[in-house]
Amino acid sequence: MPELPEVETMRRGIKPVVGARIIKAGRTRCTRKPITVWPNDRTAKRRIEGQQITGTGRRGKRVLVHLENENTIVFEPRMTGLVLLSDPPTMEHLRFQLQLSLAKTPTLQYWDRRGLGSVHVFTPDELEEHLGPGRLGPDALAVTPEILAEIFKGSRRPIKVALLDQVALAGVGNLYASEILFRARVHPKKRCSAMSQQQWLLIYTAMQDILTDAIKHEGSTLNDGTYRNALNDPGGYQNQHQVYDREGLPCPGCNEVLIVRIVQAQRSTFFCKKCQGY
Ligand SMILES: [Zn+2]
Repeated sequence: MPELPEVETMRRGIKPVVGARIIKAGRTRCTRKPITVWPNDRTAKRRIEGQQITGTGRRGKRVLVHLENENTIVFEPRMTGLVLLSDPPTMEHLRFQLQLSLAKTPTLQYWDRRGLGSVHVFTPDELEEHLGPGRLGPDALAVTPEILAEIFKGSRRPIKVALLDQVALAGVGNLYASEILFRARVHPKKRCSAMSQQQWLLIYTAMQDILTDAIKHEGSTLNDGTYRNALNDPGGYQNQHQVYDREGLPCPGCNEVLIVRIVQAQRSTFFCKKCQGY
């Protein structure tokens, strides 16, 4: 569930580890079904241990930790993963840990309740092979209106479904797609190929504004409470949601009809039939 704003919040939250040396790395004692560590535990350890952290980054919905040997640790939270500097929400779901040479921040932890996320340690070539162009689209915060239109305008897919395709555009997920289309006043079922230039511009503007604003609020923590920032605190953008998970509530745009929920490609979409006409 963490999307661009939540993952970017995690990335910013772990900045204090830049410059630290990694003393030890590996899985923590966890009795749950093990998460994926790639290429394998031994190689991951060998590539990480003893290295200094030179920077952090993000690709789509993944947090990157760059090392002095040019390898990169990639944390992919998928549904319930968190990258943390402070004590995790529970000990039993703690999955992976970097022990650091810092007195104030002794560990960087990967926690994952459902355990669907992963830790990859890539060489520069592997990073490009797995997460480079062709495997992952340009970042949603790095495109222009022209690039956005160019990516999607040949597609006959509904815009809501297309926005979730990480190979086309990286970072937007189910929650923010509904919010973006509501702000842009575009019907979620509208085909990309039928969209006007003006509508691409509206979607672009809504996307930049909403993602930037959500980062400012440190992401959205939903009712399940799973998502937390790097210090195990909740985000605040859930209070700004206009349509997501608000089925049956009055539309904040027109105040005349109720928000509806439909299912597109097995995912819930929330929208207003009046504000988001074709
Ligand atoms: Zn409305």
